[in-house]
Amino acid sequence: MPLHELSTYSVEHCELCHGKHFTEVADADRDGKPLRTVICEDCGLVFSDPRPSTTQIDDFYRNSYRLAYKQAWQPRLNHTYRAGKVAQARLRNLMPLLTPGCNVLDFGSGGGELVFILRELGHDARGIEPNFGYADYSRDMLGIPVQIGGFAEASVESNSLDLVTLFHVAEHLEHPVEAFQKVAGWLCDGGRLYVEVPNVESCCIWPSSRFHQAHLYNFNAATLAQTGRRAGLRVVSTFTSEDGGNVSAIFEKPKVLLESVPTPLPGNAQDILRILREHTLFAHTFTSYPYIRPLQKLRRQWRERQILARFSDGKSLLQSIAHEIQRKERPDSGSPPTATLAPV
Ligand SMILES: [Zn+2]
Repeated sequence: MPLHELSTYSVEHCELCHGKHFTEVADADRDGKPLRTVICEDCGLVFSDPRPSTTQIDDFYRNSYRLAYKQAWQPRLNHTYRAGKVAQARLRNLMPLLTPGCNVLDFGSGGGELVFILRELGHDARGIEPNFGYADYSRDMLGIPVQIGGFAEASVESNSLDLVTLFHVAEHLEHPVEAFQKVAGWLCDGGRLYVEVPNVESCCIWPSSRFHQAHLYNFNAATLAQTGRRAGLRVVSTFTSEDGGNVSAIFEKPKVLLESVPTPLPGNAQDILRILREHTLFAHTFTSYPYIRPLQKLRRQWRERQILARFSDGKSLLQSIAHEIQRKERPDSGSPPTATLAPV
């Protein structure tokens, strides 16, 4: 059953600042289905209210999420290719944080593409994935270590990790501050947490596509940074993707965790509301995004068909991406891949 039909409880106070004054910013999701989304007037955190219960959310991610959005229990070859190219792009930002043999955990590892490539590059990487089908695929087809479960079931040794990555995970969590606190416990002193989420201020999408029933939270750079601070972490940097569609933050675990204080972020709600108000359907029509994006998609599909014709399984395809990364990193080393990723 879709999440919006399971919304059972109202939010009493803001997760970040404990404020109780919310303003409605939308009443429908990207498919036009009912989804009430509000903004905290005190800090600018945007979230769904009402929302499903913890049990309903857990069940949804274990059993339905991938099926609902990818129409598959396990990744198909084209999913692996797309996710592999996304992992390659993510690695460009992760490279400066990786030391030789780095101990990395990718939480919400999906089909395991990032973990697999990191391991091919010599890092001690593993994953945690709540969806049974995708976790099984990662372990059985790619042969990588992946735990099945969410934050509640995660079994990770304290102070053991150099780097934890959360790509498009935090927006799905019922209590992101609590989850980040858990991650802080897993990190060694000086360890890093890398988080990427959709940017609530994004103007590269149609205004009606902004809210998603599976996204309980919608962050901007300020509220994402504040989530890490509330978990006791130091903010190293925040940045947005080239098209503004995603926002990322890098956090560091200090020797002594920062004091977690729920404080307002003055002016942030007003800034977000202004961006949402100004990004109208009419204004979006006069940007280049509605015209460039379909062309980019066509180009991607053409390239994808060319490449998929040369691979029969996800593992060899990901090995080829890892080889490509190695070649770019160290032009004079690494054995050549069995097949090339470049289209003919
Ligand atoms: Zn708040």
